Amino acid sequence: MDPRHAPLFEPIRVGPKTFRNRFYVAPHCSGLGVEYPGAQAYLRGMRAEGGWAAVNTEYCAVDPESDDSPWVQARLLDERDEANLRLMVERVHEFDALAGVQLVYMGADHTGYVTRLPAGGPSQVASAMSGHSCYAMDKSDIRRIQQSYVAAAIRARNVGFDLIQVAAREGFSLPLQFLWRYWNHRTDEYGGSLENRTRFWRETLEQVREAVGDDCAIVAGFCLDSFNDTSDRAFKVSDDGVGVVELLDDIVDLWDMQVGHLEDDVSSSRFFEPFWQRGYIEQVRPYAKKPIAAVGRFTDPELMARAVGDGVIDIIGAARPAISDPFIPIKIQEGRAEDIRECIGCNMCVSRFNNGGGRIVCTQNATVGEEYRRGWHPERFNTSDRAEEPILIIGAGPAGMECARVLGERGFEAVHLAEADAEIGGHVNWVSQLPGLRTWRRVVEYREAQLAKMSNVTVLTGKHFDLEDVLDYGASTVIVATGASWDRTGTSPLTHVPVAGADAYPTMVFTPEDVMLEKRAVDADRVLVYDCDGYFMGSSLAQKLAIEGKKVTLVTPADQVGSYLFHTDEGGHVMHALLDLGVELVTSHTLDGIEPGTVTGHNVYHSAKEISWSVDAVVLVTQRRSRNDLYEQLTAAPDRLRSAEINQVLRIGDCVEPRVIAEAVFDGHRLGREIDTPDPATPLPFIREQRILGWREEDYDGILRHVLPLTPVSRTSLR
Ligand code: ADP
Ligand code: SF4
Repeated sequence: MDPRHAPLFEPIRVGPKTFRNRFYVAPHCSGLGVEYPGAQAYLRGMRAEGGWAAVNTEYCAVDPESDDSPWVQARLLDERDEANLRLMVERVHEFDALAGVQLVYMGADHTGYVTRLPAGGPSQVASAMSGHSCYAMDKSDIRRIQQSYVAAAIRARNVGFDLIQVAAREGFSLPLQFLWRYWNHRTDEYGGSLENRTRFWRETLEQVREAVGDDCAIVAGFCLDSFNDTSDRAFKVSDDGVGVVELLDDIVDLWDMQVGHLEDDVSSSRFFEPFWQRGYIEQVRPYAKKPIAAVGRFTDPELMARAVGDGVIDIIGAARPAISDPFIPIKIQEGRAEDIRECIGCNMCVSRFNNGGGRIVCTQNATVGEEYRRGWHPERFNTSDRAEEPILIIGAGPAGMECARVLGERGFEAVHLAEADAEIGGHVNWVSQLPGLRTWRRVVEYREAQLAKMSNVTVLTGKHFDLEDVLDYGASTVIVATGASWDRTGTSPLTHVPVAGADAYPTMVFTPEDVMLEKRAVDADRVLVYDCDGYFMGSSLAQKLAIEGKKVTLVTPADQVGSYLFHTDEGGHVMHALLDLGVELVTSHTLDGIEPGTVTGHNVYHSAKEISWSVDAVVLVTQRRSRNDLYEQLTAAPDRLRSAEINQVLRIGDCVEPRVIAEAVFDGHRLGREIDTPDPATPLPFIREQRILGWREEDYDGILRHVLPLTPVSRTSLR
């Protein structure tokens, strides 16, 4: 280990528990929770195996009123919830880590879609997040919900949790709603002064401590500052944050601190630097005698060592860095920091959850969420008894690079990765040159570095492979990973037909590749960006062109610019940036025709409401199309494949279906793991954790068999 990182491995006392090092996986949503208890347990257990001293659940409901469906929580309402979470605790303890649970009651942020129950809040205030309201709690309601916290804490203790967090975090917790004047309009002893507004949290912490405090460490999950809130009801670290720490420090064992609303807390690399929260935490540090853990998208051991060494925080908190690489602590400890698969801060992980409770995925780590159902381990790969078969991968984008990496890890003796461009990386090479997306290059850098270490993987660049090249190459397996390109006809998901004139004026109409690869520079003053994609490309290009001084109009058929960006918690920040740059935003409009100097369109809800724009250039961000010519040529020539002794031709990534980088990486990873199955084009079945009426435990054995060899699976959770 680099001696500068040694302080990160000093044990620290937290109430009745001891952290073996300074690495703490903060509570974070996963979309697994109560729906997929096996996946939840193995996801968290993998971090324990990766060396983190403590590992938390996601937000865990203490009461049926705290119903956030379809968003998936953990839950501790009864014995069945205990049984499911016990598996997680066992997995975490198996690797000598501490297990933590984050107790929450949603208050006004609840939905009640499953239970159909109302929920209480300090006052009857509607939630901007859920769109729901709540009932104003009277004192008996307060006592009842505090009892729910206590009952859940006792269950957590009985299950074996070591850390019990009572969260006052934005977006999902009643103690924060009592703290913030935005929510709390009471005039009794639970409202008004800071001391009064802290009363609910203080009493709850005290009651939980009294119930379980000798057995478990009590953690205060605390949002220090409402960030970007300029109203007179803002919660500010300089007085409110400091005041709360002074009031509660004596009754907590650990502070788990963060700043801002959910979309600030899950701060994307496009807008936030790592550990931007430092200035906030420095303000409360002098008042906290108890250890402080905080997140900051920490992937760099130098930054971690500085944060701890300077005494700003005592413990490195992480959610996304641990999603991207659960083995960060062990890699630092073993002096292998260069092997860390660094989080790129894209927020694809949280986007699936935000978009209605979906399962966790990661752009960098294809194995996340697959530990249990597919038996995938991020650092362990099984060898193949067909390792001598030569494999040629064509296309070194995310899919091709990841597939080569996995095949290399599995010990295949001759893996050749061929790329037409001068460098590997595929579309990420130019996407990462868009404003704010520099960090996305880590997708390439990590794989480049890993491939460079593998003597069994050969990387060939600067050669475009055609059919004859492939047939002559001498591989027995060919994997086509040739990617996708943006459509240049303006065909959109909305119309499924080209925009008239799109292909008639090549000096006026551009695709994203044209703009970014500077094959044809946009040297026009007035540019219209037509965004039917809704993710980062349209708004990023509008941002880039506006930064270059052009007058930009961004037109989208959607009702919101960059609608998917609101799932990645970037939407508000992107809107702010576009408005700052003076980009004209036009929603709910589609394009009809392009002519020199003029673009016409109409309102998607009213075809007679026509509109025209005077512009000199149009950038079409409508949809991508797979580049699958090579695959089609190969599969159309079975006799020639036989003569060339090519046994199988497979394809992965965007050349199958253009999707986000995370899916291209997943596709490449999956094929690398399963290339030697009888039918590698068809994914192996995985454990669905589905309740099947009439099935007994042994009935699941068939679907477990291929998962069992790599990771022992406890079957208790399948009951
Ligand atoms: P994905 O996201 O599926 O990995 P990308 O579009 O990022 O796809 O990458 C595909 C890569 O394949 C690009 O770098 C492209 O240059 C390369 N490529 C496409 N066709 C060929 C070919 N015939 N020979 C070699 N490389 C190719
Ligand atoms: Fe980081 Fe993106 Fe992975 Fe989330 S999806 S952990 S932000 S790399």
